[in-house]
Amino acid sequence: MVSADNKWLLLAERVVDEWAEITFPRPVVTLEGFEQSDGCYWCGTGEKIGLQCQCDSRRLAWLRTFRLGEYEAPLAECICRGKYFAWLLMLEYLGTKLGERIRDCIPPNSVLVPVPMPLIRRYYRRLNHTGVLVKYVSRASGIPIKRALCRKESMPQAGMTAAQRKNIRRNCMLLRPFPRIKGKNAILIDNVLTTGTTLEIAANKQKEGGVSSVRVGVLAVTKMPKKGKKL
Ligand SMILES: [Zn+2]
Repeated sequence: MVSADNKWLLLAERVVDEWAEITFPRPVVTLEGFEQSDGCYWCGTGEKIGLQCQCDSRRLAWLRTFRLGEYEAPLAECICRGKYFAWLLMLEYLGTKLGERIRDCIPPNSVLVPVPMPLIRRYYRRLNHTGVLVKYVSRASGIPIKRALCRKESMPQAGMTAAQRKNIRRNCMLLRPFPRIKGKNAILIDNVLTTGTTLEIAANKQKEGGVSSVRVGVLAVTKMPKKGKKL
């Protein structure tokens, strides 16, 4: 027998459940039926001109890009919700999906290296979403995590010349002391591949640390910059 008190409690619970369902729909529902085949092997975009991909004109700092899809609805929306509203369930779902995609396609002796986020941004977003993401990628793929990179906080860039800014950007990431990645195959994990600048810096730092190869795993890729435009 359900007492009167319990009845109200159950009703309140159901109302909260329904509210939560409307406010934060379950990721499986939101991304139901979403499946995109791999794009270009190197840059991850699905946009190909004839047989050639537009990344042909670029020199990428890594061997391969794994991604769930292109940065557009519904995937883009899900990533934004996961990031800006600290929606852990969504990050878990996306991370697991990415892990499953990477799992059977990488050489042995691989490690996952999360791309670090600037501290100030981490403060505003309330969570380190790349850190959360990499945890689930690792769980689904069985690849260990090596937090080999850290972020250097930089001064405000106003009033600097372009060259100075470029220099600061290049030095915005550091290898941690004793990263122990020598001879490993690194897979850099980030949310979205946009211009590729951050990932390129991260990839070069990995090479300084002596990795044998660098691959990239992201949730989504945006379209590449036009031909002739430098990274
Ligand atoms: Zn390409």
